[in-house]
Amino acid sequence: MIKTDILIIGAGPTGLFTVFEAGLLKLKCHLIDALPQPGGQCSEIYPKKPIYDIPAYPEILAGDLTDKLLEQCKQFEPGFTLGERAETIDKQKDGTFIVTTNKGTKHHAPVVAIAGGLGSFEPRKPLIHNITDFEDKGVEYMIKEPEMYRNKKVVIAGGGDSALDWSIFLSDVASEVTLIHRRNEFRGHLDSVEKVQELKNLGKINLITPAEVTGIVGHHHVKAVVVSQAEHIEKEFEIECDHFIPLFGLSPKLGPIANWGLEIEKNAIKVNNALDYQTNIPGIFAIGDVNTYPGKLKLILCGFHEATLMCQAAYQIINPGKRYVLKYTTVSGVDGFDGTRKEAPKAVVKAIE
Ligand SMILES: Cc1cc2nc3c(=O)[nH]c(=O)nc-3n(C[C@H](O)[C@H](O)[C@H](O)COP(=O)(O)OP(=O)(O)OC[C@H]3O[C@@H](n4cnc5c(N)ncnc54)[C@H](O)[C@@H]3O)c2cc1C
Repeated sequence: MIKTDILIIGAGPTGLFTVFEAGLLKLKCHLIDALPQPGGQCSEIYPKKPIYDIPAYPEILAGDLTDKLLEQCKQFEPGFTLGERAETIDKQKDGTFIVTTNKGTKHHAPVVAIAGGLGSFEPRKPLIHNITDFEDKGVEYMIKEPEMYRNKKVVIAGGGDSALDWSIFLSDVASEVTLIHRRNEFRGHLDSVEKVQELKNLGKINLITPAEVTGIVGHHHVKAVVVSQAEHIEKEFEIECDHFIPLFGLSPKLGPIANWGLEIEKNAIKVNNALDYQTNIPGIFAIGDVNTYPGKLKLILCGFHEATLMCQAAYQIINPGKRYVLKYTTVSGVDGFDGTRKEAPKAVVKAIE
């Protein structure tokens, strides 16, 4: 059982900034995210796009913003359960919550902050009749641990940035990488497309286009995929492989959270925005893109603001009756849970001769 003060569901920008604000109040956080990496939409959908409306950053790449948020909250030593979806929530007699993921990991906390954005990202699966038989038996829809492909034969399907980037990365890890796409054209960053072309010319990536994977062969594990070339649909052939990785993007779904008894409006969780972004269930808050209230804007800076106010309310639940006096970080400094201390240089009293 993982225990923490604030259990955050969703490690997007809102969830990550919550760790920092909670840390200032000496509250520990643990984050669950269905994706294998933190950053939410910023790292999954548009890591290389510049954002222009983050205060004090005239321009910052979404991926760099994630890195900065991780750097800022590192001192408060957040825990992460990544690649797992929060599935169920059980309120205990003492008012605390146990949240269990689809993989059975249990988390216990007095406060739950849902920062689930548009919902958990579910992979778009190709229409292959027996694909579910091979899930986690050689078929993976996202790459969580690149080392597991070392010296293996890998087939990747897809025509976007993920398929291109992982083909490039795995060409140095796997013994064989085959990239299959149903068109000749790829939709990605020019440098990634050019790199795949170069690796193909060097014989480090086998490129098969226009083609589709239409079947999977194996008993308890993937042994080969069946490929149909678009121009010769009757001409199917097999490619031997240990892993088949379809990277066709992810679609967000509010998913299991929708069944937690929370008040939902237009696929978002209703909260009390006049006070603290609490939901209709005391102790459960919803912040960032996942919530709704009159005037709601789905922007990163709004998520940051909501996280800050929500942490004050969480403090009161965790420390009932204890008064918290807001202090500027310029005055109080920041004491990390890792023993680090940051503070502005102190004023000195020194005569000038
Ligand atoms: C292309 C694009 C460009 C954008 N540009 C801007 C911009 O310029 N400026 C701006 O302010 N905003 C922009 N946005 C919007 C911005 O990205 C969102 O407002 C922001 O990501 C919301 O952050 P969040 O942390 O609330 O949610 P998200 O970033 O959506 O993160 C939520 C996380 O929760 C996880 N999750 C959800 N449910 C579960 C569950 N049950 N179990 C486990 N994990 C779960 C998801 O996997 C996800 O990682 C843009 C969005 C897109 C798509």
